Amino acid sequence: MTSPWNGRFSCFDLVARTADCARTIVYAGDVEIGGDDFVVMAGPCAVESERQLLLTAETVAAAGAQVLRGGAYKPRSSPYSFQGLGLEGLKILRKAREETGLAIVTEVMSEQDVDLVAEYADLLQVGTRSMENYALLEKLGECGRPVLLKRGMTATLEELPRSAQVIALSGNRQIVLCERGIRTFETATRNTLDIAAVPVLKTVSHLPVIVDPSHAAGVRCLVPVLARVAAVAGADGLLVEVHPSPDEAMSDGAQSLTFGGFRGMMGDLQPCLEIRDADRRPVPQRVRPRLVAAGGSE
Ligand code: PEP
Ligand code: MN
Repeated sequence: MTSPWNGRFSCFDLVARTADCARTIVYAGDVEIGGDDFVVMAGPCAVESERQLLLTAETVAAAGAQVLRGGAYKPRSSPYSFQGLGLEGLKILRKAREETGLAIVTEVMSEQDVDLVAEYADLLQVGTRSMENYALLEKLGECGRPVLLKRGMTATLEELPRSAQVIALSGNRQIVLCERGIRTFETATRNTLDIAAVPVLKTVSHLPVIVDPSHAAGVRCLVPVLARVAAVAGADGLLVEVHPSPDEAMSDGAQSLTFGGFRGMMGDLQPCLEIRDADRRPVPQRVRPRLVAAGGSE
């Protein structure tokens, strides 16, 4: 398989795609990421209370989400912002899984917390600020759980699979890559969604690729359209923030969808998923009809 990029990525051999290698399917509990299904992971930025999380879990499950997101350990830009409920938040996430059957994705920020978070989560999230925390990545290589690796906000596309290679070298190839927007000179959005990341990463790596439109947009009105674009670009799924009452959220309320907004986003995705699925089908071999001159013989 040749592409303009393979030469630059092939050194990360455990995650690089080669002509004959199969695509990796990552298993978050029973949920297959990177298979035929478009997997939607949805929930609040932070776990704030049992009531908030259970209500959100039931709502997103009914609308078609398969994975519940929610941060128990929050990497906030300011030390004065809400830092998450920690262990209490993990226990609430476990309860939500028991009640709804949704798989759980939640962030782990320190290698010291990996064993604890792995007891509660089906998929361990590495946030944008931690993409190059190699002590954390190495520990995640040994944790026995799949990893959702977010692109660093100033990382190039080459640096994302490089970090994935660190996890794989430590023994874990169950990794999902996530494009969540990067820092550019643009300020109308919180980050700039680099949509080309999806086809490039799908070409150079056998790992699943998902998109987080919430942290890219920074405002909820843009989230549904970025989600649709992600589906058409061939993403394997989404990570989306949803809150029962976004204006009262303790983090990232401005970019969190309301319940109605989430249902609307899911409905509007359908035509885009059909385009995505058509693009994935193998192109039929066209056989050119043999032309026979009128009155002539073959
Ligand atoms: C999050 O998912 O809430 C989060 C903090 O994401 P990021 O690391 O992409 O900023
Ligand atoms: Mn957030």
